[in-house]
Amino acid sequence: MTVKTVDALLVGAGAMSTTLATMLNKLDPSLEICMVERLDHVAHESTDGWNNAGTGHAAYCELNYTPEVGKNDVNIDKALSINSAFEVTLQFWSHLVKSGSLPEPENFINRTPHMSFVWGKKNVAFLKKRYELMSAHHLFQGMEYSEDPEVLEQWMPLVMNGRKAGQPVAATRVNHGSDCDFGSLARLMVNNLEKQDSFELKLAHSVEDLQRSSQGGWSVLLKDEKTDKITRVRAKFVFLGAGGGALPLLQKSEIPESNGYGGFPVSGQWMVCENEEVIEQHHAKVYGKAAIGAPPMSVPHLDTRVINGKKALLFGPYAGFTTKFLKHGSVMDLPGSIQSDNLKPMMSVGMKNMDLTKYLISEVFQSMKSRMSSLKDYLPEAQDKDWKLANAGQRVQIIKKDAKGKGSLEFGTEIVSCEDGTLAALLGASPGASTATQTMIDVIERCFAEQLENNGWKEKMIEMIPSYGQSLIEDGELLGQVRKMTLETLKLNA
Ligand SMILES: Cc1cc2nc3c(=O)[nH]c(=O)nc-3n(C[C@H](O)[C@H](O)[C@H](O)COP(=O)(O)OP(=O)(O)OC[C@H]3O[C@@H](n4cnc5c(N)ncnc54)[C@H](O)[C@@H]3O)c2cc1C
Repeated sequence: MTVKTVDALLVGAGAMSTTLATMLNKLDPSLEICMVERLDHVAHESTDGWNNAGTGHAAYCELNYTPEVGKNDVNIDKALSINSAFEVTLQFWSHLVKSGSLPEPENFINRTPHMSFVWGKKNVAFLKKRYELMSAHHLFQGMEYSEDPEVLEQWMPLVMNGRKAGQPVAATRVNHGSDCDFGSLARLMVNNLEKQDSFELKLAHSVEDLQRSSQGGWSVLLKDEKTDKITRVRAKFVFLGAGGGALPLLQKSEIPESNGYGGFPVSGQWMVCENEEVIEQHHAKVYGKAAIGAPPMSVPHLDTRVINGKKALLFGPYAGFTTKFLKHGSVMDLPGSIQSDNLKPMMSVGMKNMDLTKYLISEVFQSMKSRMSSLKDYLPEAQDKDWKLANAGQRVQIIKKDAKGKGSLEFGTEIVSCEDGTLAALLGASPGASTATQTMIDVIERCFAEQLENNGWKEKMIEMIPSYGQSLIEDGELLGQVRKMTLETLKLNA
């Protein structure tokens, strides 16, 4: 069995590992980094353009980030933190473009106005309140609001054409919203990494097992998917950026911090437009309100996309349920993840969330007619012949043991790391790829604290992300400076 030693072994070649690898390489180009991906290609799971919605999540249009509280109030705290985290991402991407590590930005990000659209008196009142609160904060300056059908028709003609007259409607718009092709971005980051001698990509290799090494760090077993040959890699640091595959690997690591975690998979589907004339008439991401009982990630939206350089129009996602943790996974993933330490949390989540499970299963068995009817809420003149159904990626929501030993279902992301900082795993999937930069900064702060403090990494971090260490929520002037720079560099200005 071959044994090789590296500084960092990153499992998976999706948005998370490619961001972390790029960041680590910039902080210290001499670090030996090995990226291991079980599929034949980079970013063919959740990160691929067709498997996610490609929304640069900045909380401009996603109504689930601003919940209603009480009778006429809206909580915008989550929106502020997501928006500022996306600003961090935009700064990192701008640095990569300016330093020539990424090509022209239109290869992975394109300006696409972000709009929220609602109908009905109650929803209009909610959107107006949300707009008043958000537009008063510097992060959301420039957000527009209208209840005028003629204005809305200019903003989103397909959504307004054929709509019942007299219905109260309202929308907000932020012109510098973005559509991101996270798959292309990950592949471009890997192309750049592959130019460095200190980086190695192992495609078609699965991480099968990992154990603490007697020499420090981790001993990781890899299987060549084509030959079944097993090799061993010793790594000083391991990152489990395996998407839905992260939980089983975290369990195999047996670090005490993994105790009690479980996963709840939610699948998704899109309606994809095949009529070029229709595709050309829409240029926005239009997000609505989630149906009652629906999980937060199934907020319906009608999206202009640019995937692998080609414009597309997608509607969805329709949520669904399977026991697979990855799109290319096994139906045994969920049952295989049940262990003595997470059995009670998983059972209690199952019992507490029967409505969610029923909702997801009913979504799976939805007829095409009923899917078209949901689409027509947003595109009243949609024609059956123009649309086909496609599968999206898998998201594994976190089940976590609470103080009473029971479980709670979480819809965010979480880093689980061991005390000595030699291993970190990313669980969960939302807000996802958009906030990967902030999430990977958190990994570095936890696992490379000494280098950050003593090896000049902090200064390099500020070079890449000028707002590093400061709050964009608090500092309007700093936000103004970095946003001007990122909008120009990434060509997101209207
Ligand atoms: C329907 C849907 C819509 C979404 N919409 C958005 C959006 O609009 N905006 C946004 O920012 N985010 C969105 N997301 C979330 C976003 O796609 C994910 O957060 C992000 O892609 C996760 O990246 P990752 O690298 O963690 O996982 P992945 O992209 O899934 O990559 C993990 C990789 O690890 C590999 N792997 C797994 N197990 C092993 C193993 N044992 N050995 C080796 N390799 C392994 C897999 O093959 C895979 O390539 C969406 C997700 C879904 C499913």
